[in-house]
Amino acid sequence: MTECIFCKIVAGELPADVIHQDEKTIVFKDIHPKAPVHLLVVPREHIPSLRELTPQHDDLIAHMMRLLPRLAEAQGLDDGFRTVINTGRGGGQEVFHLHIHLLGGSRLPGMA
Ligand code: 5GP
Ligand code: ZN
Repeated sequence: MTECIFCKIVAGELPADVIHQDEKTIVFKDIHPKAPVHLLVVPREHIPSLRELTPQHDDLIAHMMRLLPRLAEAQGLDDGFRTVINTGRGGGQEVFHLHIHLLGGSRLPGMA
């Protein structure tokens, strides 16, 4: 998986502004932030997208979901936050290593 930029960040081969690490995930700032706070929650394991998830990933996914509000709180996002997962080119996915965007810090526009 040496061509995957997020695997390289996980391996410490590419720099990133890391704000949290644990045994399952790494969390770093998006290089092109779309909001005052824009983090990427990334599993250490290379999983291309939501489509490749299996029941073996259930603990990982639960961990990532429960991490999100803790990260938001640590970032001072008391008023709320947005989470986004892009899947496939049609869904706007550019990096094919599963990740959750965590956005906040300003009033985000509606999704409609
Ligand atoms: P996607 O479109 O795949 O859901 O999101 C990929 C995100 O990764 C984009 O928001 C993009 O700005 C971010 N990104 C791409 N390359 C890098 C990088 O090398 N470092 C960091 N920190 N973010 C990146
Ligand atoms: Zn990867």
